[in-house]
Amino acid sequence: LILSLGGINMDLVTFSDRLPADGETVVGDRFVTYPGGKGANQAVAAARMGARSAMIGRVGDDTFGPQLVDLLQSVGVETSAVGVTSETNSGIAVISVGEGGQNRIVQVLGANETCGDAEYDAVAALLPHASALMLQLEVSVSLSIRVAELAASQGVNVILDPGPVRAVPNEFHQWVSIITPNETEAEALVGYAIADAHTAANAAGGLLARGVGSAVIKLGAQGAYWADGQASGMVPAFAVEAVDTVAAGDAFNGALAVALSEGHPLETAVRWGCAAGALSVTRIGAQGSMPERHAVMALLN
Ligand code: ADP
Repeated sequence: LILSLGGINMDLVTFSDRLPADGETVVGDRFVTYPGGKGANQAVAAARMGARSAMIGRVGDDTFGPQLVDLLQSVGVETSAVGVTSETNSGIAVISVGEGGQNRIVQVLGANETCGDAEYDAVAALLPHASALMLQLEVSVSLSIRVAELAASQGVNVILDPGPVRAVPNEFHQWVSIITPNETEAEALVGYAIADAHTAANAAGGLLARGVGSAVIKLGAQGAYWADGQASGMVPAFAVEAVDTVAAGDAFNGALAVALSEGHPLETAVRWGCAAGALSVTRIGAQGSMPERHAVMALLN
């Protein structure tokens, strides 16, 4: 069983020839809703890879809440630990896309930010059945640290995706088995630009020194660099035609968690992650672009 404690969001996306100026209304040509949230995306990614996957988080008592839960269930994610709060809205992002793909985004984390003791208890109840706990930074960091410590004390792999960018307190690192930043997140963590295997190796070394078990730096179309303190290496990306890179990192993490849970070494798990990430960029959307296991295996072979 793979657990994901994190964000569950609905992205509301408009497309127009140009973005409005202050006070202006522009008539757009298309509107779509995409279920997202890094936590939910990663839970879906693990389920699509054939693992038992459970989501822990919170949605609002609004029209999006039940839709988000139904969508998770429809791909086989267990949702009994997804709570509903009437305090605030479901997590949403309002995204306006203009000519040439330029965009403006306002995210309101809402219900995600109310996660607390109930979610801690839900993780505690599920941990005895779990092989991995996936965390991101879309729910309270103090809650994430508490569940990471609990999981680590029970020998369950904690996989931390440190996005969206926000401070990661030093005490967090010791409970993290694998930290998986992308280039932007790695730069925010170490304070210098990450652009290639060389800079990624430096960043990975810095993160290992903070106490994480292993570091995996996701390098977009270049692939991913990994280091576990003993060995390290670069896994090149699989060549694909990129259509939409949203949630590539989430596809990567879901596949990485499943590979590790099946007993594969880190290098193999990073290859699975790269294959899943590559397939996800060939499709539009977030949860909808998470690849099926057979496709990932076909690309690996
Ligand atoms: P994020 O989505 O978190 O920004 P990345 O963009 O680094 O993360 O993507 C995660 C992984 O997906 C990469 O490590 C890579 O293996 C794969 N990937 C991303 N973009 C591409 C691409 N254009 N072609 C092939 N693989 C890609």
